[in-house]
Amino acid sequence: MSASQLPSYQRPSNTKIVATIGPACGKQRCLADLIAAGVDIFRINTAHGTRQQRQQYLDDIRNTQREAGRPIGVLVDLAGPKIRLGELPGGQVRCAVGDQVRFIRGESSTTPGELVTNYAPLIDELAVGDRVMLADGTVGMIVEECGKEYAKCRVVQPGVIRNRQGVNLPGVKLSIPSLSQIDRENAAWAAQNGVDFVGLSFVRRADEIRQLQALLQSNGSESQASDSQTSGAQVIAKIEKPEALDHLEQIIEAADGVMVARGDLGVETDIAQMAVAQKQIVAACNRARKPVIIATQMLDSMQHSRLPTRAEVTDVANAILDGADACMLSGETAIGQYPVQTVEMMHRIALATEPLYRQRPPVPQPDVEEVGDNPITEAIVRAGGQLAEQLDAKMVVVSSASGLTALSLSKYRNFVPTIGVSRSEATLQRMCLYWGVIPLAGAPTEDNSQLLEYVTNWGQKVGGLSSGDLIVLIAGTGLSASAHNMVVVHQLD
Ligand code: PEP
Repeated sequence: MSASQLPSYQRPSNTKIVATIGPACGKQRCLADLIAAGVDIFRINTAHGTRQQRQQYLDDIRNTQREAGRPIGVLVDLAGPKIRLGELPGGQVRCAVGDQVRFIRGESSTTPGELVTNYAPLIDELAVGDRVMLADGTVGMIVEECGKEYAKCRVVQPGVIRNRQGVNLPGVKLSIPSLSQIDRENAAWAAQNGVDFVGLSFVRRADEIRQLQALLQSNGSESQASDSQTSGAQVIAKIEKPEALDHLEQIIEAADGVMVARGDLGVETDIAQMAVAQKQIVAACNRARKPVIIATQMLDSMQHSRLPTRAEVTDVANAILDGADACMLSGETAIGQYPVQTVEMMHRIALATEPLYRQRPPVPQPDVEEVGDNPITEAIVRAGGQLAEQLDAKMVVVSSASGLTALSLSKYRNFVPTIGVSRSEATLQRMCLYWGVIPLAGAPTEDNSQLLEYVTNWGQKVGGLSSGDLIVLIAGTGLSASAHNMVVVHQLD
């Protein structure tokens, strides 16, 4: 069975596609079209909308995935400690170079030139010389004077600022906690509703990840899973602050996955360093065997155009060639005019790029002795993948209780279609983030003969698998402490 022989929803690109849900695609029929176009994971951004809307989105996704008959992941993105402007006089203020503005305490301002934010200690934590960036970094100011009740700034980069736009303070170390009360409530909701991934914005240190993991577990995330090996929602660390780059290895180790959140990263750090930072983060994630998502402005112009720019196409391709597991769409699918066409385009770029990736895999091949908890599992996974390539097998089947073995196989970047099976629905949904792994629901994982029969029937039904073809199964005998201690090469009669 070759990739091109499978229908697109069953043989998507190896690179996973994350699409942000919003008014542009929040109807069940559109969700079905997005899944058919190649979406693996939907992101619900808690920075927008109400709890009721988010619950509706989640219900619609779960209903659509049931109808589509395939696992789909859900990522709930917590807004995190994002500082926002309050109400401005007239709703907006035009800032010219040299203008002086004052940050003051309070929630709204009626005096032109006075700004308020949702972060009460801001005045106390700003110092002379600090930079303040507003409106996604388009407007820049320098703090020139600090008093007890104000911080006076001079505009150095002009533009218009509006009510509730973001405030970034590059390089300023803030005491703001990583989870606000609203984040805690949203995390509890996510855990109680069995979402697969929770994104933590503006991470600075690894202990913030552990705090969120504990919160998710205390809200029943773990008990959602069908057995003790499959802990609940996975924490995705969004790298968007210089402090996160300073503690990158520890953050990656603590997190279950990482997002290169280029929107805020490009404001909080020097935008000219973006490509370098992206490559460093992706490489560090691949060394640590953690999935990594590249986010923001990947096909931004498609919010209003049926075609992307040449630079955007190249950006998506380069993210894949860097070794990203997934690429993410934000406004393109949430509020854009062409959500389905944008996903189709991302899928096409991935399919066009992956053959080049095959010739020059950027993902370091891990040393079996050095990675993973179990050297037998490691050796089995690597050998299984190699066998499949060497024998030109039509598919590799990996049976995985927690998903970790499927993730490990994914990081070896084999190009034989990889089918992930598990008795846990949560694990199958988690596999939606793993490069090259196609999660298949309903397979009997307790009995290897039945499992082979099931995937063979499935392969024949979706097309391409025929007599004489080989399937490699990576599983366990069930007789040993090592869960994965078996590779079977099965030839179809
Ligand atoms: C980003 O900053 O790039 C990002 C993905 O986060 P958000 O969409 O929450 O701003």
